[in-house]
Amino acid sequence: MTKPVVCIIGTGLIGGSLALALKQANFSAEIVGAGRSKSTLQKALELGVIDRYQLSLEKAVQGADIIVVAVPLGAMHAVFKDIAAGLAPGAIVTDAGSAKQSVIMDAAKSLGGHFTHFVPGHPIAGTERSGVAAAFAELYQQRRVILTPTDKTSLSAVETVTAMWRAAGAEVECMSAEHHDLVLAGTSHLPHLLAFGLVDCLNNLEEVDEVFRFAAGGFRDFTRIASSDPVMWRDICLNNKEAVMDMMRRYRDEMENIYQSLEAGDGEALKAIFERAKKARDDFCG
Ligand code: NAP
Repeated sequence: MTKPVVCIIGTGLIGGSLALALKQANFSAEIVGAGRSKSTLQKALELGVIDRYQLSLEKAVQGADIIVVAVPLGAMHAVFKDIAAGLAPGAIVTDAGSAKQSVIMDAAKSLGGHFTHFVPGHPIAGTERSGVAAAFAELYQQRRVILTPTDKTSLSAVETVTAMWRAAGAEVECMSAEHHDLVLAGTSHLPHLLAFGLVDCLNNLEEVDEVFRFAAGGFRDFTRIASSDPVMWRDICLNNKEAVMDMMRRYRDEMENIYQSLEAGDGEALKAIFERAKKARDDFCG
């Protein structure tokens, strides 16, 4: 098979890291970058992340075999609309968005007949940093990528996108978009909200300077992800609202339970919760 031309729209942490990984694996004939600002694309070119760039999204996808959309969720719809007219017949479009049902709806609305060649995807990899300067080729090594094809998605398009992520070092799994959104609301979206919420809560204390000055390793570990990009996380919350709210309600009930045990001075109840949680984490994380 001839090597594909890959177009990456959004050459930030996720798109830039994929471009670097594909280059390292010698997967593609060419990597074309596209996005909204010339300065980011110029930087991506200078860092060797992409081979060339094109500011017009419609022109960027012309001649590309695989198009990866790695922009914030709130920008997906506009990007799909802009690329639709430029797509070659048979070109495969995929994305890296952290919620899947909303992206599928955006793609269905804008890609027309090309929707059968759209493969929704989400790499379960990242850091709290963003932008092309934070990109690195090893980001996807031994990490999972979830694909959530619909009943209309072409099987060969899924196979091509699977091969691309495998070349980048990732393991690929498929599941329904609904299941993805529920699972990720619990394992990723809720933890980010807890980190943002905790830091914001402590920041409002009168003793804020003392609190942060004496913050130890546990606080740093727990709150590292509160340094993540606010725009990205606003978009994730809004685009996976129901599942995130469901997880928040469950967590609120758990906190209420702990609060009441503490209020009652019920050490046995507290210990039982902590023992259950410790065992679950030790089992899951080895
Ligand atoms: P990022 O580092 O901020 O990169 C986003 C890129 O998209 C930037 O190049 C940005 O260009 C471009 N962009 C923003 N708005 C745009 C628009 N309206 N039109 C065209 N391009 C636009 O973000 P990221 O962390 O790579 O995240 C990208 C996607 O991956 C998001 O959908 C996110 O949910 C998903 N994701 C993120 C992680 C993570 O841990 N970070 C993990 C898995 C999936 P400028 O430089 O001009 O702003």
